[in-house]
Amino acid sequence: MDRRLRLILAAVIGAMGVLMTAGVAGSIDSGDFAAAGRYFSIAEIVRSRSYFIHGMVPVMVLRMAVFALLAFAVLKEWNVLPLCVRERVRNVHLRNSLTLFAVLVFLELLQFLVAFYAGFVREGNFGLRNAGFPLWLYRYVLSSLISLFVTWVMLSVCARVLGGRVRFMVFIPVVFFVVSLGATVLFPRVVTPLFYEVTSLENSELRGRIQGLMEQTGLPVSDVRVVHTGRYSKKANAYFTGFGSAREIYLYDTLLQDFSGDEIMTIVAHELGHYREEHVLIGLLLVSAGIAAALGIMALLSRYVFGGSPGELVLRGRIVELMFLLMLMLFIAKPVFSTVSRYMERRADGFALRRGSPETFISLKVKFAKKNIAHLAPNPLYVWFYDTHPPVMERIRRAERVRAFSGRVEK
Ligand SMILES: [Zn+2]
Repeated sequence: MDRRLRLILAAVIGAMGVLMTAGVAGSIDSGDFAAAGRYFSIAEIVRSRSYFIHGMVPVMVLRMAVFALLAFAVLKEWNVLPLCVRERVRNVHLRNSLTLFAVLVFLELLQFLVAFYAGFVREGNFGLRNAGFPLWLYRYVLSSLISLFVTWVMLSVCARVLGGRVRFMVFIPVVFFVVSLGATVLFPRVVTPLFYEVTSLENSELRGRIQGLMEQTGLPVSDVRVVHTGRYSKKANAYFTGFGSAREIYLYDTLLQDFSGDEIMTIVAHELGHYREEHVLIGLLLVSAGIAAALGIMALLSRYVFGGSPGELVLRGRIVELMFLLMLMLFIAKPVFSTVSRYMERRADGFALRRGSPETFISLKVKFAKKNIAHLAPNPLYVWFYDTHPPVMERIRRAERVRAFSGRVEK
């Protein structure tokens, strides 16, 4: 067991090291810099790289540390629970759940160090943050507690199912799908208002234009909501969520302040592209199918590395081994999900480009990239593995091709 576990650990840390190095190196194609140079100054290109590295390196180091710690906890048979707890709690499922809680709390504390640097110090250094430390800390702790609780409950239930008689490869993905579907409807209505003020869009001219575009595309007119984030951050964003008639578009107030009506309409058209093709629903279906596949692979790996099925590990109280396998599966699945996500983003961009001018699309992307300090010349390997959106210059170049093509047609 030890040799196989060490082998996997070395492979994962090695792969992460390569990804981190690629991320730091950035683009290897000088054409990327030339293309970016047409819209951004050298200082902006350098600054975007620096901003990216200051966030990516701490996160990658954290990921490697988590893997190594979990592997060592298995190898050295560390007891996560204190002796007094172990003596009192005899039920293996309760003990597993408590162990999970202890491990998750520990990981959350490790993560805090990275979040403080990448999320607070870095955002301040690059002039993106509007909130002071007490407010930042309060919001960070609140969101961490929510995610800690949700993850803990989810993993405890999964462990219980793995150790039971139910067909877990069907049960877990189905439950995940139903719960996530509910969450996509509830999240913007319950969790987002905990962090931001959310109102309906007041600008009646813009609202009219948006509703006009929605009717044109044959979609039910639902509400356009504004999330007031300007108090905390200068970053701008827009997203849509839900499915069927519960779909809603959310715009950040920072967007409404700094972007033109045409630019906002391009953003809405992009979101509408997601909306029309039911990307949230398809994404959830794919993730559920992915979970089923991952559970199958996990069962094989569990026997190969730890000499027992996941169910046996649960019943023997070896939950840390399962945590290690879970992290391993998440790592392997990452590039698959990133690739699917980038594919959906390209579809949504195509939808927006068919409905607006490429000129506005380009000016919007340039403005967005400057405002959010998007990496202007990222490394393709890193992008392939981790990025959910295509690089900004790829999106701009596509709009340039559309512009060149429509110019030819008009002539
Ligand atoms: Zn999108």
